[in-house]
Amino acid sequence: MPHPDRTIIALEECHFGLDGGAMFGIIPRPLWAKTNPPDEANRIAMSARCLLIIDPDRVTLVDTGMGVGFSEKEREIYNIHRQDAGLRAALRQYSLTPEDVDDVILTHLHFDHAGGLRTPNEDGSLRPTFPNARHWVQRQNWSWAHSPSARDGGSYRLQDFDLFDADDAPPLHLVDGIAELFEGVEVLPVHGHTFGMQVVKIDAADQTYAFVADLIPTAAHLRDPYVMGYDLQPLKTVEEKRELLYHARRDDWILIFEHDPTTAMARIDVDARGRVIPVPLKTLSHT
Ligand SMILES: [Zn+2]
Repeated sequence: MPHPDRTIIALEECHFGLDGGAMFGIIPRPLWAKTNPPDEANRIAMSARCLLIIDPDRVTLVDTGMGVGFSEKEREIYNIHRQDAGLRAALRQYSLTPEDVDDVILTHLHFDHAGGLRTPNEDGSLRPTFPNARHWVQRQNWSWAHSPSARDGGSYRLQDFDLFDADDAPPLHLVDGIAELFEGVEVLPVHGHTFGMQVVKIDAADQTYAFVADLIPTAAHLRDPYVMGYDLQPLKTVEEKRELLYHARRDDWILIFEHDPTTAMARIDVDARGRVIPVPLKTLSHT
């Protein structure tokens, strides 16, 4: 298991906002508003966070954020804003460019995860952001994204991922079920949020990490009933979350939250009343 030379870094692609009610499903507003105060449009602050895994011989990115393919109206609805120039600038902090990325693992193809797959050229046409990378997605999610239900169709935008249809497209690998993509990087499919989403489990040195995607979008979503209204199979989410948290607590994993506005990484504990609670780490990276 040891990967002593592996570095794990959480990257902020952008910040945005989503309706607090939709983000917390059946939970009444007075409860979630304590940890995630809504703005005047009832939106809570969200991060589009990606994960960078740097090995001596490989650079891997998990998810790509929102990207720039949004109209002014959409940017307003989702309150999309960036401190700087998104992923490219975030990578530059580590002396990397998108061209240096060898592998892109997509947890699923919703627009806040796959939107960064393409970058506009000066003439407005689009090119693959990671031209040299192999791209990995669960086959089941790939199929679902091409014919989603009327309920979740708005979350999948063909223009985010039809780049793979082009002749000169970077390679796409469809994954079937649990798989170790490379040493110490494993994908675990879950189906409550959408069909064929994958959590990414990473071993580094003597620490295991899990990038939990939309299974547990923020540190405020750890407890059973805190399930997003967006989820297609909420009871399945409860089951899958319990299982993941059992392992996380038993084996002292660090969880990485894709959408929490402030907590990127946390360990898991239980309080005096037996409720699962986060123990946030005050860092965005780990070696
Ligand atoms: Zn999401």
